[in-house]
Formats: sequence, structure tokens, C-alpha cells
Amino acid sequence: MKGKKPERKTFGRDAPPKGYPKDQTVYADPENWRYPLHTPWNAKAARRYFDEWSNRAKYTEEEQAYIDWRINEALNRFAQQAGSRGTRRPAPKAPLRKKTEQLSLKELLRLFLGAARLTRAEEIEDSLVIISKANPEEIEGKVKDYMVQIDLKNHTILHDCQDWRKNAESKNMCKHLGKFLLSLDHETATGLLRDILKNIEQWRFIAQ
Ligand SMILES: [Zn+2]
Repeated sequence: MKGKKPERKTFGRDAPPKGYPKDQTVYADPENWRYPLHTPWNAKAARRYFDEWSNRAKYTEEEQAYIDWRINEALNRFAQQAGSRGTRRPAPKAPLRKKTEQLSLKELLRLFLGAARLTRAEEIEDSLVIISKANPEEIEGKVKDYMVQIDLKNHTILHDCQDWRKNAESKNMCKHLGKFLLSLDHETATGLLRDILKNIEQWRFIAQ
């Protein structure tokens, strides 16, 4: 807590305004039912009103610090919630109009990477990719300094970059996986991606 909670003021309200929360704790100035912070919109409005000198001047400096602290806390909380929602990528799904078997390698990669990541994958130099093993059960190698291990029998992919860590749970791929798959023979990569798409529940994307 910062500053001092404002005391009851002559300009204060006795009760919440009509249609506003009856919980005193969601107001930046609880005793006076002022500056409600229950939605992102209200928190932003509170910031705007309280930045006006005529509104601030009704409080002591200590009380102003308290209200500022409450408003900022609410704004930060809402910004964080919006941020975590925004970064989560939905799991890849085959488009409704097309059967998985009809999807080309590029279309499949676009589903797993998204257009922007696919472009970045294509920009990685061929010389940065090493395929050390490629048989019907296992495909292994490296992209830059990151390892890639695909176990076709046990339906697992191991990889170790930051982007992969962030998105592995929602079964999205990073640019390294994209480049790795582009470096495999066309048929193997296409077959693998079709299989993952069809059996997405069985496949596990593991971050190291
Ligand atoms: Zn990666």
C-alpha cells in the first residue's frame, strides 16, 4: 500500500452510483465511492479523471498517492490479463473445406507456424540445418544450436528454443521446426505433418 486511504469527504457519495459495484474495495477511493476500477474501461477512465488537476486537488498529497497506486495497480492487472490472452496461439486445425490428405506441405506448415513464422523459417540458411538421423522411426538433427528429435513411433517432438517452450502446449511450431521440416524430403515432411494434424491428441511437443 502506498500513501493514505482518503477519508470521508463532503463531496463523497453515500452509496455506489446506480449500476456500479456495491463492493467498496473495487473503488480507488473506497470511502467516497469514487473511481471504480472493476473493468479495464473504468480503470482507464479513472486514470483520465484523476489526472485532471481539479479532481486531484480535492485530496491531500498522501491520499493522491493512494488513489494513484490503486488505479495503476488495476491498469497493470488488466494489461497483464490482456497480454497473456493475446500471446496464446490456438492449436492448429485442418480447414473445414479441405481434407488433411489434400493439404500441401506449405499449407500444413502455415497451419503449424502461421504465415509470419513460416517466412522466418524460410529465411534460415540451409547450412544451419543438420539432419543426423532420418529413418521411419526417428528423425534427428539441429537447426542453429537447437536440437530437434522427432520420434514417430512414440509421437513426440523434442526441441529446446524459447518460442517452442512458449507454444509447445498448444502444439504450435517455431521457425526452427519449420526450417527442419522444409529440409527433410518433401514426402516425409508432408506425411509427418498430416499425421500430427490428424492425431494431434496423441502427439506430444516436449520442450527441453
Ligand atoms: Zn525453435
